[in-house]
Amino acid sequence: MSERKSGKQRREEIRRKRVERAERLRQDAQRPDARWAQRSERTSEAGVEPADRELLARLNNTYAPLPDRYLDTVFECRDCGEEQVWTAKQQKWWYEVAQGAIDSRAVRCLPCRRKRRDAQRAPGADRLRETCERIRALGERAPDTAAREAIDAALADKWWGVRTVAIGVLGRWGDAQAVARLKTLVDAGEDAKRWGDWASEGRRAALKALGECLPASEIAWALAVCLARDDVWPLPTRLARLPLPEFWQDVFAQEWRRNDPARLQRLTWLLRGTRTDVAQQARWRNALMQHEHKLVRQAALYAWRDLDERADAGSR
Ligand SMILES: [Zn+2]
Repeated sequence: MSERKSGKQRREEIRRKRVERAERLRQDAQRPDARWAQRSERTSEAGVEPADRELLARLNNTYAPLPDRYLDTVFECRDCGEEQVWTAKQQKWWYEVAQGAIDSRAVRCLPCRRKRRDAQRAPGADRLRETCERIRALGERAPDTAAREAIDAALADKWWGVRTVAIGVLGRWGDAQAVARLKTLVDAGEDAKRWGDWASEGRRAALKALGECLPASEIAWALAVCLARDDVWPLPTRLARLPLPEFWQDVFAQEWRRNDPARLQRLTWLLRGTRTDVAQQARWRNALMQHEHKLVRQAALYAWRDLDERADAGSR
């Protein structure tokens, strides 16, 4: 065998070195000591790029902290599972030139992205589009056994896009069986990682579907979900609009006794969206404004900041 390395071996070596460098950078960045502070000024260093925070703030409507620099980052490719480096340069291009959302991340390596692109250009892409259209059409009419089986199959499809379309169909059906399925998807994604796994994507899609079809019979389940977590939009909107004024009085009494500040804040926004009369809403607001916890008082203040105007408009 010759001493010369093959192209493949060389590429593999470069990849490994990049992964190691990114790992070193990550460890340095976690240590806010003098050495890192010095290095951070040297933005010309390999693996580090300065971020244009003003531009990022304009592009992203978010309270999330914006980076002041990009670092080479290791990620696992979703398709081939190989550890890859998303370089600082690539990140800068993605967030500032391509204007990708600040919370988006690299999920596939370059070879896998190319493979995917080619596959989408190939006849397979037409098949995918046809599949999505065929599945979507199932939502136009009441479900029968064949349609339910098609949705079950679509929910197990290798393409997430097909699964998401299937979830949308369940939302359009909105019958007991479909709702039960959507609830399962929401519960299954509860502890999912935020990025790059199906459970959290499926949960998001299911919440959206339930936001259109949630029946009053599921109010207890939906209430538990909405009071436990923030990331459940648009379920709270749907829940609040279910016309059950007495129900909300009971919920308020119960949560007031339970006295968990985070839940009371979420409840505040729910109550504000209910179809209860202004006098009732004023009673809730006044009670919450007396709460010992500052964040609860603030939530009540913000949620009902226009309540007095609404009361005036009502009495005129
Ligand atoms: Zn890959």
